Amino acid sequence: MSNKTSTNPELMEKIVSLAKRRGFIFQSSEIYGGINSIYDYGPLGVELKNNVKKQWWKAMVQLRDNVEGLDSGILMHPKIWEASGHLAGFTDPLVDCKLCKKRFRADHLLEAKGLKPDFRPDSFSEHGINCPECGGELTKVRDFNLMFKTQLGAVAGQTAEIYLRPETAQGIYVNFLNVLNSSRQKLPFGIAQIGKAFRNEITPGNFTFRMREFEQMEMQFFVHPKEADKWFAYWQEQRRDWYLDLGVDKSKLKFRKHNQNELAHYARSAVDVEYDFPFDQRELEGIHNRGDWDLSRHQKFSGQDLQYQDLAIKEKFTPFIIETSGGVDRATLMFLLNAYTEVDTRSGDEDAKHDQEVILKLDKRLAPIKVAILPLSKKLAKEALALYQDIRQSCMSDYDESGAIGRRYRRQDEIGTPYCLTFDFDSLTDKKVTIRDRDTMAQERVAIGELKDYLREKLN
Ligand code: ATP
Repeated sequence: MSNKTSTNPELMEKIVSLAKRRGFIFQSSEIYGGINSIYDYGPLGVELKNNVKKQWWKAMVQLRDNVEGLDSGILMHPKIWEASGHLAGFTDPLVDCKLCKKRFRADHLLEAKGLKPDFRPDSFSEHGINCPECGGELTKVRDFNLMFKTQLGAVAGQTAEIYLRPETAQGIYVNFLNVLNSSRQKLPFGIAQIGKAFRNEITPGNFTFRMREFEQMEMQFFVHPKEADKWFAYWQEQRRDWYLDLGVDKSKLKFRKHNQNELAHYARSAVDVEYDFPFDQRELEGIHNRGDWDLSRHQKFSGQDLQYQDLAIKEKFTPFIIETSGGVDRATLMFLLNAYTEVDTRSGDEDAKHDQEVILKLDKRLAPIKVAILPLSKKLAKEALALYQDIRQSCMSDYDESGAIGRRYRRQDEIGTPYCLTFDFDSLTDKKVTIRDRDTMAQERVAIGELKDYLREKLN
């Protein structure tokens, strides 16, 4: 679901090109011609993505007494997907072109024609809709399940059909009792997990926005039914604060409440956290009040008692669940777009080669490289390298001695490195280095002996 906002395809192209050139994100299996909608994170991308996950984990688990972490399997008992409703209902309606064989989401084609959802098998021929690419006749509307199937077991004829998980949430629900009993938690409490999920999307696209293999960061908060509304509101505030604290442009972050007819089968109420992406305003994360759907379904299908016995109020009940369900890759792409800044360097800056320089104004906690150590001359390499070896013990650092110092600053600006330390000839005697701040470009002289404290304070 999306609201049309201003589009900016150029910005998207710039990010895709920067991501490849500087080693953030590559097309997967590129030397074999690529594989559609799978991407690989390069040296800087893996740092950035890890930092996104680290900040989420810190905010959602580390700093909370009432949320526990989990890392459950990607492959799970196939009955889980029956209980969750995915086997029957995790489908998108599709049509194929009989002529060019292209596949389309039926809802997208209807929306483009200004028509309401109508997924009866013959609806496309009735509406007279043909292939938007070649004008060919379209097939009947069919439901397509988005789960990837695979086989468990080695012996032919005795293998079981199982699925790659399409979301991490189910691993949390089926571990509700395990975590409750092993952690001494009481309601209300939550379980958080980050991990891969797989969906055979019919129309993936927009770079890493919609992929077939991606990562989710999900937290499921178990509450007394009477308190569900309160916690639903609470988690919306918490998630808003997380994005804003990490520097997301407030004017581009929107919270959109779902209408009653838009709600998923499991949801009592839902809010999408949306960002004004260059292609459209789209979902970053969903926050849902799932009611008792999940635990009561797993109780029914597993035969296990998943109710909660509250001794304080002498009541046994099935907890309601409030979930925050975000995409790691979508958040990472959003942070890149949000940080991308072009500055005009024509006047005053002699070192700048181009008229337009790029600064990635990432929050320092997200920046892949925190500090670059730059000797002013190669003659200072020995001392500068010793400093680099020391600094890298405490944070991700880079060492660069090639090219003019201005060019080296630009290289670091383009990947979002917050601090450059320049080791010059005076450093040999006064034991100080010049620290340049990425955003203000201000330079200050700091004693080498005080660097670690200085950086610790600045980077946290
Ligand atoms: P969409 O409507 O965009 O398909 P969804 O409502 O199906 O998303 P959820 O099932 O709520 O998404 O998943 C939670 C989060 O997981 C999404 O907000 C998104 O950040 C991420 N996500 C879902 N599908 C994909 C995908 N194919 N590629 C990348 N991230 C995804």
